[in-house]
Amino acid sequence: MSELAERFETHDPGEKQVAEKIRCDACPVMCYISDGRTGACDRYGNVGGRIVRMDPLTILDHATEAGGAVVPFVAEGEEWDGELVNTGRRFVTAIGAGTTYPDYKPAPFIVSQEVEGVDLVTVVTEGIFSYCGVKVKIDTDRHIGPETATVRSAGEAIGHVTTGEYGSQMLSLGGVHHLTGGSKAEGRATCDALLNLCNRKPVELTIDGGAVIIVEAGKPPVIDGKLEHRMRVGCGSATIGMFATQWRGLVDEVVVVDDHITGVVSEHQAGKVLGWQDTGIKIIGRRSTPGRYFKVSEPGLGWGGTSISDPLSILGEWNAKKGARPGLSLLMVSTTGEQFAYYELDDALKPVQKPFPERLQKSVGLIEENCEPALCTVLFVGGAGGSLRAGVTENPVNLTRSVQGLTTYVTVGGAPVYVWPGGGITLMVDVTRVPEGAFGYVPTPALVAPIEFTLRRDDYVRLGGYEAEIRSVDDILAKGGEYLNPRRGTAAPASNLWPPLAQLRRAAGNGVG
Ligand code: SF4
Repeated sequence: MSELAERFETHDPGEKQVAEKIRCDACPVMCYISDGRTGACDRYGNVGGRIVRMDPLTILDHATEAGGAVVPFVAEGEEWDGELVNTGRRFVTAIGAGTTYPDYKPAPFIVSQEVEGVDLVTVVTEGIFSYCGVKVKIDTDRHIGPETATVRSAGEAIGHVTTGEYGSQMLSLGGVHHLTGGSKAEGRATCDALLNLCNRKPVELTIDGGAVIIVEAGKPPVIDGKLEHRMRVGCGSATIGMFATQWRGLVDEVVVVDDHITGVVSEHQAGKVLGWQDTGIKIIGRRSTPGRYFKVSEPGLGWGGTSISDPLSILGEWNAKKGARPGLSLLMVSTTGEQFAYYELDDALKPVQKPFPERLQKSVGLIEENCEPALCTVLFVGGAGGSLRAGVTENPVNLTRSVQGLTTYVTVGGAPVYVWPGGGITLMVDVTRVPEGAFGYVPTPALVAPIEFTLRRDDYVRLGGYEAEIRSVDDILAKGGEYLNPRRGTAAPASNLWPPLAQLRRAAGNGVG
């Protein structure tokens, strides 16, 4: 049983309140918490008879490089000296802000800031996402399992393999059916895995009929115990196109072995344009167009994402009438350049492996050099189309329209998001652009994620916002909020634009966001 599950088991929301316990109402679990203890999620505690958000409210400083702490913790009751965060480019994130649950009250922080003469407001809250999920991109040629195969964590189904994309394998994990629609164990395992993936921790995933993969955002995948180093340079056909000139005059034939499209230079358009001679080669596979072959093998962990370990197994008989001759030279290489071999035809027109010639080393090295490092990418997918909107405006649909109309700029922990077109506010964010440790959970089960909405103050008032609750950044730094937690300054990730500025530029129509 996971740590998360154990905590859930020990909590009984139906227990009677006793004198020294107080109730946390920041999520539907409604923990009763003794003095000096924290609730089921560890995010809230009873400190001297008051409910306190245990993590500090995070304020980003957009003037410094990522990585260094900028401002020490400012405990509740202490003065914020303002010294270190003094650039004017501060951003109050929702990390540590607290929630609006049960959604009848305004967001914990509604922050005003003037940027280039324009009054902007950022509405800051931690959202509880019961239906959220992640999309995982794993840069690898290797076959990790068939499409639609179930992905498991701790033995429970938490998602599935989805359509592969251009040299990467894709997983779709979480969502309403696994978080809340299955057994309790399934929901807990899903929540556990999503939380760790979003907080950039390694998670072991097992695919039915496929591989065991360790996924960690921003790191290379480990597939069946093997660390992946690089992603393919392109399919076999693209590799031929890119490097045909490098091979001209050095070898008579090149086959780039690839599970998707295997390329043959003498038949390929690139080879034809360069005047490559026919070689009488025969590829066992489904010919698509000249020099491009599908399904030379089954997908697997071998050469170019195929199941083969001997590349000659995809070759048929050589045809002397079409150019095959003793001594003809052949390079076979995979799409990452990791596997390569050199052959010459003998008198019986059979390929015989020979020591790899120095003259071809450079071209194989060039394939490797052009491959990007293999990484795992984790995108958090959440929806802010539900009750969370009521903490922003008294008329929730106005927020949806405002986001869709690009009047409101949405961030997650200060990181830019992609908002899907269509109904609701369905957003995706790269978790590596969100400050570390920004995601939490509640044992309902659901993930907790920071979310901020930035828009012009007059637009905010117009859409029914809580004008009376608007406060300045300085006031928030000095006094904190309802949940009495300290404030912490930290350097914003260098890749993230200061959200108020991003909103202004987007409103001005120059495409940011
Ligand atoms: S699980 Fe956490 S947020 Fe929910 S009531 Fe308990 S302490 Fe509060």
